Amino acid sequence: MSAVYRVDLDAFARNLRRVSEAVAPAAHMLVVKDDAYAHGLEPIVTRAVAEGVRWIGAFDVVTGAAVRRIAGPDVRIFVWLIGGADDLAAGIAADLDLGIGDEALLDDLSRLEADRPARVHLKVDTGLHRNGIRPERWEAALAQTATLVAAGRVAFEGIWSHISEASDADDDDARALFLAARETARAAGLDPRFSHLAASAAGFARGEFREDLVRVGAFSYGIRPSGGPGEQELGIEPIATLWATVTTVDAAGVHLDVGSLHGLPSALGARFDVLAPEGPRRVEAIAPTETVLAPWAGAAPGDEIALFGPGALSSATDLAELIDTIGEEIALRVSPTVARTYVSTAP
Ligand SMILES: *Cc1c(COP(=O)(O)O)cnc(C)c1O
Repeated sequence: MSAVYRVDLDAFARNLRRVSEAVAPAAHMLVVKDDAYAHGLEPIVTRAVAEGVRWIGAFDVVTGAAVRRIAGPDVRIFVWLIGGADDLAAGIAADLDLGIGDEALLDDLSRLEADRPARVHLKVDTGLHRNGIRPERWEAALAQTATLVAAGRVAFEGIWSHISEASDADDDDARALFLAARETARAAGLDPRFSHLAASAAGFARGEFREDLVRVGAFSYGIRPSGGPGEQELGIEPIATLWATVTTVDAAGVHLDVGSLHGLPSALGARFDVLAPEGPRRVEAIAPTETVLAPWAGAAPGDEIALFGPGALSSATDLAELIDTIGEEIALRVSPTVARTYVSTAP
């Protein structure tokens, strides 16, 4: 026995149903960046496809191609980190939908020899400045895209952006820029089949942001926002539990086999309780390779203790709030050296 990160794929499926219902009639694009928020790409994609998810947001082209191998031909896979011509060629070969936020990539597309048109979703920068075509460059980028469409090199599929979801007022400004950019595109003869700008938070809370697709990562995995609505209110549930095993019991306390090197921030030491057989026990300290708990009678090597997630007293976001961060930060830190196991009642 050693530490494991146990993922409940049935709970994941329930979240997927909840997300689809919450964003309908828009479609749910399941975001699987960072190894499906550290839950493991292959089992997550496999289950999502079985549950009827038809759009997957994969971040980069390598991940997108991996998702294509796992998911088969019937899903649309959107990627938005594209390095240059080689990435574009690989993306077209894997039949990916390409999020293009850089005019240099349009130049690359005009030179690329490909056996089919690239499916392009143009990204307009609506204020986050991560990437995206600046509003003052938008018309030039549209003209270039129209030329590529006419030459059969591009299929114009979508317009998209990314918003901060930190303040409604900023998001409203971003949406106004987005809608204006779409009008300009339509006037230029480029009418997108798919518009998308919301992620988890706006997708749930703000109907006018849903458009055709909502790119949902966090809520699909049951990670609620720090300081925001609770899981019950959102109708989602955390899906993964970090389980540790007692290695030794001594005068210092009960020692577990996970520490900060496995992903548990040491700043959480003396900040939260776990559920021991005799009731809650304080996490006294988190060292690089172990965590020490306040003792209980009968503690023995081999006992299993849940640190966060279903079965524990805290969720990832509960722990994140203790150290002023977000739930993703806790979930994503679970080290690849911690084995993942999957529980499911599905055949
Ligand atoms: C990560 C990401 C998302 C998903 O965000 P969540 O808040 O986890 O739902 C959506 N779109 C883009 C572009 C992203 O990078």
